[in-house]
Amino acid sequence: MTINDTQLQMTDRQIKRLLKADNFYGRKLKEQGITGVRSVEEFLRLPFSHKQDLRDAYPLGLMAAPEEEIVRIHSSSGTTGTPVIIPYTAKDVDDWAEMFKRCYEFAGITARDRIQITPGYGLWTAGIGFQNGAEKLGAMAIPMGPGNTAKQLQFMVDMKSTVLCATSSYALLLAEEIEKEGLLDRICLKKGVIGSERWGEKMRKRISEELRIELYDIYGLTEIYGPGIGINCRYDQGMHIWDDYVYMEIIDPVSGEPVPDGEFGEIVLTTLVKEGAPLIRYRTHDISRILPGECPCGSTYPRLDVIQGRSDDMVKFKGVNFFPKQIEEILAMYPDVSSEYQIRISHLDRRDTLRLYVETNGTVNFRDLSERLAQEVKSRIGFTPLVKVVEIGVLPRSEKKTKRVIDERYE
Ligand code: ZN
Repeated sequence: MTINDTQLQMTDRQIKRLLKADNFYGRKLKEQGITGVRSVEEFLRLPFSHKQDLRDAYPLGLMAAPEEEIVRIHSSSGTTGTPVIIPYTAKDVDDWAEMFKRCYEFAGITARDRIQITPGYGLWTAGIGFQNGAEKLGAMAIPMGPGNTAKQLQFMVDMKSTVLCATSSYALLLAEEIEKEGLLDRICLKKGVIGSERWGEKMRKRISEELRIELYDIYGLTEIYGPGIGINCRYDQGMHIWDDYVYMEIIDPVSGEPVPDGEFGEIVLTTLVKEGAPLIRYRTHDISRILPGECPCGSTYPRLDVIQGRSDDMVKFKGVNFFPKQIEEILAMYPDVSSEYQIRISHLDRRDTLRLYVETNGTVNFRDLSERLAQEVKSRIGFTPLVKVVEIGVLPRSEKKTKRVIDERYE
C-alpha cells in the first residue's frame, strides 16, 4: 500500500503547517532540513515520530494552530511518565466525528439506533468520541460512562438500547450480568462496537453469543484523534481505515523498512488533515498487517487485520517474526486444548528450539494432538515447534498477566 499522490500532497501540507507553526515538530523537521515531501522516496525518508517526542513536547509543544483556534485538548494516560497532550481545533473535532459517523454507518447503525456508551468520559478520547459520532449520525446517544452495572442494565432495558459501545472486558461483564439477571429477553441490543484492545476469538464469540449481537471492532488512538479511524464492515474481514484522513503504513519494527501487504509489522500513522497537532509517521507500536485484495463489501478503504499485540511482544525465531496472539488463534481452533499455553525458546546443542506447552484433558491422544498442532503452526506461522501436551492445570496461572513467552536463548 504505497502512498498516493493526493496523500502525498496532503502530507506536504501537513509538513508546511508544522514548519510555519514552528512548534516542537516544526523545529525538528527544520533541523533535519525538511521543507516538504514530493515523492514516495522522500516520504519514506521522513523521520518517524515517537511517543517519547510527544512527552518531550509536554504540555502544549505539539500545538500547530493559533491558540484561539484550539477548542479542546485530550490526553493519553501513560502508565508511566509524563502524559501526552493533544490539542484539537473545531475542524479536528468535526473531522473525528465524521470518521466516527462513518464507522457507525459501516456497522449498519442508523439515526434510528439508540447507542449506549460505556467507555469513560474525560481527558481521554473514548466516551466523547463515541458520543460525537453518534450525534453526527443523528442517533440517540445514551452517555452512561463506565461502571454502575445495575444502572447500565436498567437503562439498557428501559431505553431499549440497540447498540452497546464498550471495551471487550466490560461487554463480557455486562453479558454475564444480563444472563444472571435473566434479562436477555428484555434487552433490544443488536450490535456491539468494541474498542480495539487485544481480544481473543473465544471472548468475542462468547460476547456475541451471550448477547446475541453482531460485534464490530473499532480502531484508533488518542495521539491520532482517538477511536474511530477505522472499523470492520459486516463481512468482518479486517478493519477499514479511513485513509482520506489518516495514511497507514506497516513497517518492520526492527529495521524500520516498509513490509509488503499481508505481512505483519508495526502500524505507523500519518495524519493528513489535522490542524491542532499533525503527526508524521507516528509509530504506534501496535502490530498488525494490511489485508491484501478487495473486501466483499466493495469498499476500497484499506483493511487492517486484528491487532496482534505490541511490537514489544514480537518474538523472532529462526528468521520468522511472530506474536503470541497467532499461537492463541491456533489453539482456539482446537476444542480439546485450554486457552493456557507457554512458549519456551532455548539454545541447545548449538541450535534454537521452541517448545510450545499446551493443556488438554486426559481423553485425547497426546501424541496425535501434538503432531497436529505442530503442523498447524508450521503451515500458518512458518516454523515447527516441539509441542508438549500436558494435563489441564499443569501450566502456571496468575490473575494478572501470565508470562507466556520465556526466551532462554540469551540468558
Ligand atoms: Zn468491507
